[in-house]
Amino acid sequence: MIREELRDLKDFPVYPGTPNAKMDQNETPYPLPAAILEALRERVSSMPFHRYLRPERIMELKRALSGYSGMSPESIAVGAGADAMIQTLIALFAIGRGDVFHFHPSYPLYSLFAQVLGVPVKTLSLEKEDFDFDLDKAHEILEGCAVAFIANPNNPTGNLFRTDKLKELIESHPRCQFVLDEAYFEYAGETWAGEVNRHENLCVIRTFSKLFSIPSLRLGYLIGRPDMVSVVEKAQFVPYNVSGFSVEAGLILLEERPLFQEIREKVIRERSIMESFLYKFSPVVSYPSYGNFLFMRFPPGENPAEALFKEGVYVRDYGGVPGYEDFIRITLGGPEENLLFRETLQKLFNHKEG
Ligand code: PMP
Repeated sequence: MIREELRDLKDFPVYPGTPNAKMDQNETPYPLPAAILEALRERVSSMPFHRYLRPERIMELKRALSGYSGMSPESIAVGAGADAMIQTLIALFAIGRGDVFHFHPSYPLYSLFAQVLGVPVKTLSLEKEDFDFDLDKAHEILEGCAVAFIANPNNPTGNLFRTDKLKELIESHPRCQFVLDEAYFEYAGETWAGEVNRHENLCVIRTFSKLFSIPSLRLGYLIGRPDMVSVVEKAQFVPYNVSGFSVEAGLILLEERPLFQEIREKVIRERSIMESFLYKFSPVVSYPSYGNFLFMRFPPGENPAEALFKEGVYVRDYGGVPGYEDFIRITLGGPEENLLFRETLQKLFNHKEG
């Protein structure tokens, strides 16, 4: 029998069909470069699919990630997406010990996994003007928490949290494991990885789903102290927790990482074009973002998500999220998708005004 409290678990539906502009999930709009696809095809043609993955391949990926992150291979654990890390960290640090902490709004899976694992959740609402947080309230709520998830930049709000405030929290709550979720750090250019050796209760999680463009392959990693990394690996039963195909893809992507710098620059260019448009578009209040997405507020009762959907422009609707009914989040698409979003928005709101 399924546990009673899990009978009405929420799902996270995505829009069906093929949109004209797909801006509802934080993906990259650019397919993998041809050189990478070719290298992947070649690598796959000689892979021993009938065997379990060899530990050496994980070691190879950890060495490549070490080159990328500047951290030693012993401080890196590889897993099936950042999501797998979130689940494991709740299981290792919180079950039977304390609550899970996260900000609101933030990545919804911190709560979902806590609920599934039977761990209570405590949230702190971010300030509405700038999505910063109240330090005193954070101190108060963190008492009794065993794991704190902090997405930096935060999804969906796009902001980075102040280093001094986070440091104060990490240092004041040594019994709480802080997890800095750096899914979007490549777009922000700021990382906490180097801090994991200075704080016993800090680790960083990252993913290949965002800038590295392989969300469907489910590959992520954790950066932490070697003793903790070793427990995470045992709990995830490395090397059987990730697919060999994903590991080979990860290796190729890291080898070819200059190609992703070009993609990063394109996204950041589109982000600033979009920000300037939104700044002048009077119905909208938008916020600066360090990710590949933008969060924005419309006048009360005028959330355009449904109307945009009818025009084939898919965005993330926060209409059902308490306190954020008038907000949407858009993920930056390619130039044409972004233009279509702007034109459709103008059409919808001018039509209304006229
Ligand atoms: N953390 C954050 C903040 C995210 O936004 C996402 C994906 N939307 C993830 C983690 C999940 O990453 P992965 O695909 O590696 O599980």
